Amino acid sequence: KVESFIGSDRKMKLGIMGGTFNPIHNAHLATAEFIKDKYNLDKVVFIPTGDPPHKKIILDKFHRYNMVVLSAMKNDDFFVSDFEINKKEQSYTVDTLRYIVETYPNEELYFITGSDAINQIESWKDFRENFRLAKFIGAIRPGIGILETQENVERFRNDYCADVDLVYVPSLEISSTYIRSRVMTNKSIKYLVPSRVEEYIYEHGLYKRGVSCNE
Ligand code: ATP
Ligand code: MG
Repeated sequence: KVESFIGSDRKMKLGIMGGTFNPIHNAHLATAEFIKDKYNLDKVVFIPTGDPPHKKIILDKFHRYNMVVLSAMKNDDFFVSDFEINKKEQSYTVDTLRYIVETYPNEELYFITGSDAINQIESWKDFRENFRLAKFIGAIRPGIGILETQENVERFRNDYCADVDLVYVPSLEISSTYIRSRVMTNKSIKYLVPSRVEEYIYEHGLYKRGVSCNE
């Protein structure tokens, strides 16, 4: 939990990864671990979103949260925050970052995000404020145009004084959409998600048409 940072006496480097995590998959985890290592981050906090402004979510947010918790358990440096799923109103990244900065003013924040999200950042609420609150690390994601992303990153640096890096991560062409469609069509998701997440999905009958599918 983010809360465990109270009382730290040295400036910590805190990675933050927001997402719908519907469900969390190995590309999320590999990206977080790779960037934690590259930037010498002390921790990475996963923050599953509650009611995302850009997506219509039908799957219970607690299922999504539980799967993130199951995934983070095996890594001492991975934490999960329930800040957004417990909010009544829509959750926006800027509000979450403000909360973290206010609560933990000594942490250096690194917001980890895929290049698809980087390219959409200007549509986020108070997006300029996001750049003031955290350094942004954009993980190059397969299937997302690199040139377009590089151009955007350059523009963000020039126009908004944004501190944004674009980083190559071991290329994993996995998305939650792909996982959901494989479950729906009875195909294997082994090695695409942590085994505990795979078990959780089957145990709760998630992503089966007519049970708790979405989209
Ligand atoms: P969906 O298909 O439902 O959109 P997703 O796989 O994109 O799911 P999200 O929860 O939307 O997962 O993404 C959370 C964060 O993880 C975003 O910043 C996204 O860009 C990043 N991300 C997801 N998959 C990858 C990947 N394969 N490589 C790098 N970053 C990724
Ligand atoms: Mg996505």
